[in-house]
Amino acid sequence: MQLADFKCLKCGQLQEDLPIGGTYNCSCGNTMKRVFGFSKPPEFIPGYYENFEDKPIYIESKDQFKREAKKRNLEQVH
Ligand SMILES: [Zn+2]
Repeated sequence: MQLADFKCLKCGQLQEDLPIGGTYNCSCGNTMKRVFGFSKPPEFIPGYYENFEDKPIYIESKDQFKREAKKRNLEQVH
């Protein structure tokens, strides 16, 4: 089962390691949005990233990371 981090963009509460595909409501009533990279170090490390799709994809630069995220409509937390 793939897990991801979800964050409430209203009050900032973070829920880590929830199954991807679910809808999660924050205690404030807002819907939590899937985020990634929250617990990773701020400097970019090339490698396989698992949060984009069912299969890990190889990302070699921070710019590519951002592009892939944008393509998939994901929020970047940093
Ligand atoms: Zn909230």
